[in-house]
Amino acid sequence: MIRFYKTPWFTRLWYPSLIWNIPSQDSIYLTFDDGPTPEVTEWVLDQLNQVDAKATFFCLGKQLEEHPEIGKRIISQGHQIGNHTYSHLKGWKTNDAHYLEDVRLGEEVMKEVGVTNNLFRPPYGRIRKSQIKKLDLQTIMWSHLSWDFDSNLNVNKSIAQLKRAKPGSILVFHDSQKCFDNLQLILPEILSHFQAKGFKFEAIS
Ligand SMILES: [Zn+2]
Repeated sequence: MIRFYKTPWFTRLWYPSLIWNIPSQDSIYLTFDDGPTPEVTEWVLDQLNQVDAKATFFCLGKQLEEHPEIGKRIISQGHQIGNHTYSHLKGWKTNDAHYLEDVRLGEEVMKEVGVTNNLFRPPYGRIRKSQIKKLDLQTIMWSHLSWDFDSNLNVNKSIAQLKRAKPGSILVFHDSQKCFDNLQLILPEILSHFQAKGFKFEAIS
């Protein structure tokens, strides 16, 4: 299923109202989907802390419900948490009422750990226009995908591609167990590369 996690090029034309990058002179926006996950998210937080980077975590409600203490740590360290639905639904295959209810459940869990924003990222980048309209949330897509979920990933290729990010780019990683091997190779390279270039890493707000 994860193999289809590729947003077709035409999605940008269909959905110009979604956010694909953020106007900025000197900042890169790192995002982490599908957590929080013990050990993995904690490792990410330590990495970010070392270079004073802030990021946005698009958490799954069911994960956050199980690990609220990690959610609270994310917020207390100055990062943002956004909604990634409760159970990782694929919008194209889910009717609107079910989809909206899953997002609302995710929101409830987020409120419990102190989240106040209305950031949202649809799982797989797949969402219907009718769902976007009814949700009325700030829907954050991305400009650069790390492909860290690919178990056959050419890590160097991924790093080279991510290094082409510019100010305002939104990068996607996954703080899940399944992506951890790739993430451990990719993230430190990206952090040191852009730090050396004088970029800041900011959370989306
Ligand atoms: Zn996801």
